[in-house]
Amino acid sequence: MSPRFYNNADKGGAGGNPLTQGHRNAGPSKSTAAAMPAVGAPIKLDLAVIGAGPAGLAAGAMAKRLGIKDVVIFDRDERPGGILPQCIHPGFGLLRYGEELTGPEYAWRAVQEAAAEKVDLELNSMVIEASPGRQICVVSPGKGLVRYDCKSIIFAMGCRERTRPAVRIPGTRPAGIFTAGKAQRLVNIEGCLPGRRIVIVGSGDIGMIMARRLTLEGCKVEAVVEILPFTSGLIRNEVQCLRDFGIPLLLGHEVTEIRGYKRVESLSVCARNEDGSLIPDTEKDFDCDTVLLSVGLIPENELSRQAGIDLDAATNGAFVDNLLETRAEGFFSCGNVLHVNDLVDEVSQEGELAAHGAAARLGLVQESRTLNLSVMKGSNIAQVVPQRLSADRDSRVAIRVRRPTGPATVRIGEVVKLRLPLTRPGEMISTTLKADQLKALREQGETQELRIDCE
Ligand SMILES: Cc1cc2nc3c(=O)[nH]c(=O)nc-3n(C[C@H](O)[C@H](O)[C@H](O)COP(=O)(O)OP(=O)(O)OC[C@H]3O[C@@H](n4cnc5c(N)ncnc54)[C@H](O)[C@@H]3O)c2cc1C
Repeated sequence: MSPRFYNNADKGGAGGNPLTQGHRNAGPSKSTAAAMPAVGAPIKLDLAVIGAGPAGLAAGAMAKRLGIKDVVIFDRDERPGGILPQCIHPGFGLLRYGEELTGPEYAWRAVQEAAAEKVDLELNSMVIEASPGRQICVVSPGKGLVRYDCKSIIFAMGCRERTRPAVRIPGTRPAGIFTAGKAQRLVNIEGCLPGRRIVIVGSGDIGMIMARRLTLEGCKVEAVVEILPFTSGLIRNEVQCLRDFGIPLLLGHEVTEIRGYKRVESLSVCARNEDGSLIPDTEKDFDCDTVLLSVGLIPENELSRQAGIDLDAATNGAFVDNLLETRAEGFFSCGNVLHVNDLVDEVSQEGELAAHGAAARLGLVQESRTLNLSVMKGSNIAQVVPQRLSADRDSRVAIRVRRPTGPATVRIGEVVKLRLPLTRPGEMISTTLKADQLKALREQGETQELRIDCE
């Protein structure tokens, strides 16, 4: 049986894989779509994956490889790949494929891998409801409302950008204010520029990447303004996107006013003390027609909340164990909806791990589900995923620190010491704890806390 990639764009559905075949509505579908009953008669699924970004595609492919039969990936977009198709810069895939790919190239491989495993992919299909009983409701122009009854659900919905109201910048409300990701889509997919003279607020990775992209397109990037005393994205992006292009970076500066009537005309910034107070006489004005915001990402957890999943205030994602199962049985979470990752390679790895968890639930792979270690955040630790571990398998832990340091040691229980030349909140620390190391800890007591510190 060949894989089925449905683009549920219009009534009757349409077949064809939009990435592999290069067109979206490739004629009438012979899918089960026509036979799908309306809401009220749920269709049974072994596994529903919500989101066809790199996390969801990797989860779907691995689920099939491990023997899960009825697996469907749903995505609201008209093409798979999540955010990757708009990320045309290189920097993806070094860990997973050992070569440097662009976002679309990485997405292409992820789609090919899912297609090779005959995963069903339903596009233009938005999951609008998830209940604690593992039912989901999906709406698409082609099929209307369809309800599914799922043995397991993997959340892979990614994240969205914070907007101006989230950071409360004073001033007027003219046209010309975009999130950096929106500007990236405009330039790389729609083929138009958001403006000509640009100020970027926030030093997240997307903002720094867009500073370089817009400079290459002939725009003038006046400055990147960051409220913190350090950049919030990766050091490699600070070097390759700002320093290499001579783009001014103002650290410890706050935007005090955006001006303009119909369109942005100028913007003022002011230096801040560590306590957040503004430093007198440090105000600077920039003439500009466009402001891009790169002020953080929010995991898309509306469905998780509906399903009654407990969320961790530190990550804004679910609390999970080391198979990425949430505190609600049969619900798994991976990729940027779980916590904002730096590297797509690790997102794909998480998708595969969540599929492993779903297969273990169905008895297709052997896994101990004894959770005997709970993670405790010690000094200078902002977040850790997963929050609970079994000592019976190797476990990857992903850590972010609260504030930057010079040379530091990350201590994980008494068993692991990582010596690092520096640490920064923008650089995730990722390490795999061996089952032997974890067992050594467990032997010290029935239930153990695994305390993590960075000093
Ligand atoms: C600008 C930018 C630059 C980056 N640069 C790099 C880089 O150089 N190197 C690197 O390794 N990583 C980079 N990354 C990070 C990497 O792209 C992300 O970590 C990765 O794409 C996250 O994958 P995901 O599958 O979790 O989420 P996404 O890729 O966001 O996919 C989530 C999918 O879920 C779908 N969805 C959401 N809600 C629903 C719903 N209710 N129903 C149906 N579908 C839904 C969305 O449509 C989307 O397709 C970059 C990211 C960005 C934004």
